[in-house]
Amino acid sequence: MTEQRRGIILIGAPGSGKGTQAKKMKAALGYAHISTGDLLRAAVAEDSELGRKAKGYMDEGQLVPDSLVIDLLKEALGGPEAQQGFILDGFPRTMAQADALDAEVTVDRVVALQVPFDLIEERITGRRMSKSGHVYHVKHNPPKVDGVCDATGEALYQRSDDTAPKVVARLAKFESETRAVIAHYQHKGVVVEVDGVGDPSEIFTRVMAVL
Ligand code: AMP
Repeated sequence: MTEQRRGIILIGAPGSGKGTQAKKMKAALGYAHISTGDLLRAAVAEDSELGRKAKGYMDEGQLVPDSLVIDLLKEALGGPEAQQGFILDGFPRTMAQADALDAEVTVDRVVALQVPFDLIEERITGRRMSKSGHVYHVKHNPPKVDGVCDATGEALYQRSDDTAPKVVARLAKFESETRAVIAHYQHKGVVVEVDGVGDPSEIFTRVMAVL
């Protein structure tokens, strides 16, 4: 069954700024921000059955099996926050996921963030996070106190998959699996490419202009 609610996909290589832009879009539009990466990290932190199944794949920069991620996504789409509209960040990453999504909902726009690969490694390896989801960069957006979240005082950490060797694996998966997803939505005529280089607020202006 397909239905009418606003559905936006943010797609792009790891480190292309999907999470940052999705948070801004959520604040501006009031739609649910559904990040399968965040949901999976929460499952790992809780040590749930799903988290235990997913952890090994995530630590290696590999994709978590489709069946697990699709179930997670369907549950999130069914939640009250997502009824008006939703912004998908990090899903779909494979054609099986795209097909499962298309069977559930209509996607109005796919925003494809374009960032040259040489910038991606620098962005990802310098990224630091707090448990509650605040994101910093050691050079471009450092916290006031080294290693401490400005907003919450939590210790900052580096994601286990944000190291240089894992970035290579993640980019390879993007090329071998996710490129086809972009082409799939291009055929449907809903993809808009947005330059993902620059200041996050400048990129956000570009994103809002194409929605
Ligand atoms: P992200 O935060 O989007 O970079 O996702 C972090 C990791 O979670 C990925 O490298 C994958 O291991 C896993 N993951 C997130 N979303 C998906 C997805 N749609 N399909 C498969 N694995 C995913």
